[in-house]
Amino acid sequence: MPPDDRKPRRFPLQLDQVASPRAGGGRTPIGSTPAPRVSREVLRPQAPLHLAERDRQRYTAPQGLGLDSAHVRMRMVQRLQAEGINHAGVLQAFATVPRHLFVDTALVNQAYEDTSLPIGLGQTISKPSVVAAMIQLLCVRPGLIQSDVPGVPGSTKPLGNCLEIGTGCGYQAALLGHLARRVVSIERLRDLHHKARSNLDQLRAVVPTSPDVRLVYGDGMIGHAPSAPYDTIIAAAGGAALPQAWLDQLAPGGRLVAPTQDERGGQVLVIVDRLADGRFQHTRAGAVLFVPLKSGTT
Ligand code: SAH
Repeated sequence: MPPDDRKPRRFPLQLDQVASPRAGGGRTPIGSTPAPRVSREVLRPQAPLHLAERDRQRYTAPQGLGLDSAHVRMRMVQRLQAEGINHAGVLQAFATVPRHLFVDTALVNQAYEDTSLPIGLGQTISKPSVVAAMIQLLCVRPGLIQSDVPGVPGSTKPLGNCLEIGTGCGYQAALLGHLARRVVSIERLRDLHHKARSNLDQLRAVVPTSPDVRLVYGDGMIGHAPSAPYDTIIAAAGGAALPQAWLDQLAPGGRLVAPTQDERGGQVLVIVDRLADGRFQHTRAGAVLFVPLKSGTT
């Protein structure tokens, strides 16, 4: 059993604590927002490389199952469900996108474990449980007009126009594609940007119905104004503060989920809802540790 399975569960977050706009609204300084569920233990979606390497050696390959088998993937989906991921669209996306296509050949036997894995250039693919929890938070944004009910037009695309910062290997972008009308994903490392493009091409060869994702090579700290405003914004890297561009590019009714630094120098997951009148509501959702958000491109 992976060691993380024995840790106390932190997700899903108590959505009643994060979903309803504060009475009176208003933009709340992040530092003054009470944390609804700040866990004492830091959630590490992207382990440092030496830990990812340790995990690589520790986890055993699923026995007797083809690595590209939908069966192995379904076991991951069942684990996510057991952890409280209950949004049908999110579970469906995880059941559809083959994670093993996004990791190096030498690591495919760990692809369906709940662990981060190295993807090159000092970066890692995030843990499925953290990715699922963040995407689910976006899917249940209070500003979603059409409820996610079968038969309601648009209900299968709860992420609307979605911006991802930190494409990495492209796995999360592929998941978002199943839940969004459009996904724009930005990566600052040129080689990873190209790797994600080739991974997504490979995905379309295997799963021809995979939605298209727009990949942008650039500095995600400035967002991507040409496709703004976004109904949902998700960041896979955390900086000292939320870039103003992200807030400016968030549509009314939209939600942003991103790691950011807290006043003690740690990292917390922050949820920002832009209310219908344009004001912002910030909520904290627990301690995390993502790779750093860096400016510029390489
Ligand atoms: N979502 C990714 C996780 C990648 S890790 C996946 O599924 O694999 C986070 C990524 O954020 C890294 O690739 C890192 O290069 C990128 N990143 C960090 N700062 C960035 C910035 N300012 N703009 C765009 N990408 C950035």
